[in-house]
Amino acid sequence: MGRANLHVFTNTTALNINLDSSENRHGYMEEVTAKGVNVILPSGKNQFLRAKQEVVLSAGTYRIPGLLEQSGIGNPSILHNLSITPQVILPGVGAHLQDQWLVEAIYNPNITLDSLSIAYNSRPMTGSLTAADLFGDELDTVAAQLYKDIPSYARTLSEASNGAISVQAQEQILRTRANLFFQKNVAIGSYQFQPYGGNCWVTLPLSTGSVHSSPDPSKPLLNPNFMQLPWDIMVAQRLFLVLRRIFASAPVRAALDPAASTELLPGYALLPANASLAQYTSYFGSALTPVWHGVGTAGMRRRDWGGVVDPKFRVYGTKGLRVVDASVIPMEVNGNPTSTIYALAEKAAEDILADCK
Ligand SMILES: Cc1cc2nc3c(=O)[nH]c(=O)nc-3n(C[C@H](O)[C@H](O)[C@H](O)COP(=O)(O)OP(=O)(O)OC[C@H]3O[C@@H](n4cnc5c(N)ncnc54)[C@H](O)[C@@H]3O)c2cc1C
Repeated sequence: MGRANLHVFTNTTALNINLDSSENRHGYMEEVTAKGVNVILPSGKNQFLRAKQEVVLSAGTYRIPGLLEQSGIGNPSILHNLSITPQVILPGVGAHLQDQWLVEAIYNPNITLDSLSIAYNSRPMTGSLTAADLFGDELDTVAAQLYKDIPSYARTLSEASNGAISVQAQEQILRTRANLFFQKNVAIGSYQFQPYGGNCWVTLPLSTGSVHSSPDPSKPLLNPNFMQLPWDIMVAQRLFLVLRRIFASAPVRAALDPAASTELLPGYALLPANASLAQYTSYFGSALTPVWHGVGTAGMRRRDWGGVVDPKFRVYGTKGLRVVDASVIPMEVNGNPTSTIYALAEKAAEDILADCK
């Protein structure tokens, strides 16, 4: 922080990137140059911060799309609705949001703030489950069905993005995911014990949402689209069954507070042991919680697959503009994303330094 070449502007909001449009050839830019960032200072005054070399954005998955769109980078139909002149056509901006989601089972009615903090500061009790763990003898049938469903899933995802990512690209993306799901030792879900009971979460969802700027840039439009595809619901159902099995097991029962002998939420009356997938869908729809591990709204992938940044974090169609945060992770990662974000930040730092030479 003591470095003379580091200036930190606290409580300062970036409004948009100033793009040099002097080389405009086709009504929109083939390549624009980022000159700096327009910000609003705590005093309410607007200021332009000029970039000597380049602009690196790290506003996170939920804010990057708005920042790019407010600068004229994104899907032309979304930009037109916001009365913003397109500078760089990148339909993938904001279009491939993925987040994990969880559902809980509550057993223990005797929770106090003290017991919560003791539990959270003690050993975490968590586990990850592979497709083989979840589907057992049905694994081959389930895998065959998923591959069969990929074309229709791809159409659903592409339509939901208004064609921002083509059906063909979505098929490739889904196939890459499915190939991963059925590898040995690749977890597709997790469970955690909590002082109140437990939860289980779909760590590698296929459903895809979006984040875009609204006319008020401080309030982006967020559509997580959880449970868009039946695969995610089926995985959650299997995870929930495992969670129930764990809580019905003798060792866990013996360790539980005696008051926590029955499932309070959802409870077997609301969600019976033999509940159908439709009942699970209805229950999850009312009970799921986002995990806030959002990624993908400025994905690093091929431009014609809806990519926003190249492998060196450079925004396609621009010079001097990079995005370095969770938004560039093209698909959800297993578990918690922070270590992955640190790793990609290290890689980006190397790329930036190499390009400065
Ligand atoms: C409640 C909660 C619990 C979580 N727990 C875990 C966990 O246990 N483990 C884990 O790995 N991950 C966890 N995560 C996820 C993790 O926090 C995120 O994945 C990670 O912080 C994303 O890093 P990022 O750099 O992409 O974005 P962020 O950390 O969101 O950083 C973006 C920054 O940009 C700023 N910003 C945004 N827009 C502007 C603008 N226009 N102008 C100026 N500044 C702007 C924001 O204020 C923010 O400081 C949790 C998230 C939440 C919400």
